[in-house]
Amino acid sequence: MLPPMEVGLRLGRLRASLDDAGCGALLVTSTTNIGYLTGFTGSAGMLLVDADRAVLVTDGRYRDQAPREVTAACSEVEVEVAVDGRQKLLSGLTAGITSLGLEAGSITWAQQRRFVDWFNGTTLAATDGLVETLREVKDEGELARISAAAAIADGALAEVCPMLDTGPTERQVASALDNAMRDLGASDRAFETIVVAGPNSAHPHARPGDRTIAHGDLVVCDLGAIVDGYHSDMTRSTRIGGTGDGREAEMLTAVLAAQKAGIAAIADGVAAAAVDTACRDVLTEAGLGDAFTHGTGHGVGLDIHEGPALSGTSTATLRSGQVVTVEPGAYIAGVGGVRWEDTVVVEGGGCRRLTMSPSAT
Ligand code: ZN
Ligand code: ZN
Repeated sequence: MLPPMEVGLRLGRLRASLDDAGCGALLVTSTTNIGYLTGFTGSAGMLLVDADRAVLVTDGRYRDQAPREVTAACSEVEVEVAVDGRQKLLSGLTAGITSLGLEAGSITWAQQRRFVDWFNGTTLAATDGLVETLREVKDEGELARISAAAAIADGALAEVCPMLDTGPTERQVASALDNAMRDLGASDRAFETIVVAGPNSAHPHARPGDRTIAHGDLVVCDLGAIVDGYHSDMTRSTRIGGTGDGREAEMLTAVLAAQKAGIAAIADGVAAAAVDTACRDVLTEAGLGDAFTHGTGHGVGLDIHEGPALSGTSTATLRSGQVVTVEPGAYIAGVGGVRWEDTVVVEGGGCRRLTMSPSAT
């Protein structure tokens, strides 16, 4: 049984940020953000939040589901079913509001043009990531869900790993991981599972193909599960037939050392870019700086990729309760690729790993 989440506290936190954003109310249109703020999981709805009220406007399909879910989540949101269309209802609700914030990152140009028409007389203000910023710091209930998703991916990898030595195709291993995650209780995989080997492993986000995994291949498995909407993310790399003593062995050792350095650099108050530097320095020292062709990590939660970014250009500062990945890699055409990735939660002076698969798989 998963512990409850603090959904009821989230609207208050959002309200506290509205003044700074220069708007008297926010129209939340991202279904993920609506779910976060209210507990509603339907695919059609708009949430209006002002200083005094929060109103979820949905349609007849969710007449029963919406009140049930917001009540279960202890969210103080009123539910309105738009019988005569959403425009009439929402323009009535926003009467008297001089500045209405829109979520610039989740509405289309066409929607924005429609809203200009709907909210005639109200100034529309673009807001950037107000709810996404709140989502970065997880409560205990959210951590329990991400941990459960991480444990499922751990279990699936342990179950499927022996198959790698039996000459399967990349696609067969990826399918086995997907099935194992569902059997272990995942509602879905967190993203298209990556199993790439040999030359294909030199591409960080290659798709699994029909090539047979052979002795001497480097193999990269990147997988995650979803539990109650929350994602996990983990990558393990290995070489079929042992690490050997060539370039592949150096890559496996250096990337793992880089990942350890990155994890060791994480703490509340640390610049996210410093974690990227910690990983990159180890790989540069090993002569693999140019082979590390992507950022070090990203936040994980209701989305597989969310804030904060752990890259060289990130301006974020890590805070306790944020869940992030640390995933340095090295990719060399003609040799292959290696990536190590764990999902961790920032905790005071350090962090705690949520994905627990052993380093050598
Ligand atoms: Zn991943
Ligand atoms: Zn990742």
